[in-house]
Amino acid sequence: MYLTTQNKAAIPAPCFGFDFSTVWGFTAASILVPNLLFKNARLVFPDRIEPRGDLRVADGRIAAVAPSLLAEPGDMVQELGGRTLAPGFIDMHVHGALGRDAMEATPEAFEAICQYHARGGTTALALTTVTAPMEEIVAVLRAAEHYRSEPHDGAQLLGVHVEGPYFSPEKPGAHRVGLIRNPTPADYAPLLEWARVMTQMTLAPELPGALALIEALRAHGVRASGGHSDAWDEEACAAFVHGMEGVTHAFNCMSTARRRGMNEAR
Ligand SMILES: [Zn+2]
Repeated sequence: MYLTTQNKAAIPAPCFGFDFSTVWGFTAASILVPNLLFKNARLVFPDRIEPRGDLRVADGRIAAVAPSLLAEPGDMVQELGGRTLAPGFIDMHVHGALGRDAMEATPEAFEAICQYHARGGTTALALTTVTAPMEEIVAVLRAAEHYRSEPHDGAQLLGVHVEGPYFSPEKPGAHRVGLIRNPTPADYAPLLEWARVMTQMTLAPELPGALALIEALRAHGVRASGGHSDAWDEEACAAFVHGMEGVTHAFNCMSTARRRGMNEAR
């Protein structure tokens, strides 16, 4: 079940059909829905799962959780019969869905993607770009800022995860090798102008200029993440010292255990 300001009018019927998922989520937009009492839910907490319990939502917020709760006047009561009630998923890396791509940079594409992912329990996501000419990446950022300024059905758009173009040519994955390049302040300046829309940027930390980019991203409040990288461990460590905060699709398109030194010289 997924509640937004757009579908709240349909709450009593299709949203409670349980026909596509047993994982439920809420968005901040659920503030306008009636107070709800969920009975006999399998409750997912950060540290545990309670096989049975009741949960009450008042004014869009979780007001009470207990083994058994009584309905208050005006509550809409939903009997879950042991089905799972969980926080919504937050997906930080979404390129598209149903043949639609974030690179289309249109509200129609964004809405199709966000609606599709909401069906699986994702309540918020970051659309993700691919290595492309800079103006195409900026077009996605511009479109995303406009899109998230208005209410839409589906998962909430948090912003844009800029994946590339500063990757190792050794680890391009599905990205276009011809557009992969080293970061320079002049090249990434257009991206930093849209930092307010960026959730994170994936880059290869061993590239010349990468540490300066990581620091610039950090200064602009954008999370730097290592990926599509052929870094040695000391290069990765240096990036973390300079503010890199994580890695993107760990072990996929990145260097792994390998030899050097004496073994390399033979
Ligand atoms: Zn990737």
